[in-house]
Amino acid sequence: MAALLVAVVILIALVSPPEAKAEGNSRVIVLDPGHSWTSITTIDPATNIRDEEYPNHPEIENSFDVAQRLKTMLESAGYTVLMTKTNLHDSVTKRQRVDLADNAHAALAVSIHTSGHTFGVDYGQIFVQRTDGYRVSQSGKKVFFALPDVAATSAAYGQIFQTERRKIEGKEVVVKVNSYSGRGLADGNLAIVQLWSTVPWLLCEGGVPKSDLDRELYAESLFNAIVRCVPIDPQPTLFAPLPRLSCDALTTAIWRAGTRYTYTAATVKAASVKFYLDGVLKRTDYVAPFTWSVTPTKRAVRAIKIVATAANGNTTTQLFSVVCQ
Ligand SMILES: [Zn+2]
Repeated sequence: MAALLVAVVILIALVSPPEAKAEGNSRVIVLDPGHSWTSITTIDPATNIRDEEYPNHPEIENSFDVAQRLKTMLESAGYTVLMTKTNLHDSVTKRQRVDLADNAHAALAVSIHTSGHTFGVDYGQIFVQRTDGYRVSQSGKKVFFALPDVAATSAAYGQIFQTERRKIEGKEVVVKVNSYSGRGLADGNLAIVQLWSTVPWLLCEGGVPKSDLDRELYAESLFNAIVRCVPIDPQPTLFAPLPRLSCDALTTAIWRAGTRYTYTAATVKAASVKFYLDGVLKRTDYVAPFTWSVTPTKRAVRAIKIVATAANGNTTTQLFSVVCQ
């Protein structure tokens, strides 16, 4: 039987008091889930640049899901989070997105994208504001990003995002220059929201998430990056990277739906599987696929342990934590 790669999920979660108040705008983070539910074409009066908003499935759903997870994490840590879209079905222009961030004098804005169908989960890119970044207006004029200080901050943040995303998502993530040529969009090399805004703005791309866990890891990596870019006191605990180990007895899947969690040990060789919550044995299952469901009663970090025992007595243990929301 081929060895299965099993991710042991150690989600060290933040438990900062939610009553921590924002001070000025230093804690205001704008999250910008990519794409609009309906297509919108606008010509921006200020720059004469054409903006195309359009739906892209399943990216629009995935991006919104990641943004919501990230919002919850950031608010728990004491940040004030403004969303450019508060509903999956919202349709908003780039100008509306930018106005939200600029008017709030946000410390940082982050656009969250995943791929449509094209790229696998291992795909990861980050785009920063640059003074050679531009888009071409309706009259053919190149409109450049003209705020060097903001560009420098954006570039520095981009490095931090790269480091944190590599760690948590466990894949190669590159900082690069975008291209909008040949895509039916205004020509150029910088996202319109980044071009128009006066606040540091990063655009993150990820591949198509294969699971709930992939979306969670994307949110956690962005959380860690934001905490390092925009520090607050007390500093929240960062999420730990996933250790990965080889195991031929157990795979684990985690679904998070509301407050109900199901843990499944889809087993090839185990004769029994024991499920522990916070050190207490909750269930022993002898029939594959081994499962256990629990409805946590309070918001907390819960320690999960799964021990699979093979017919020969060998055991495999997985430890991880979840945040009950
Ligand atoms: Zn996109």
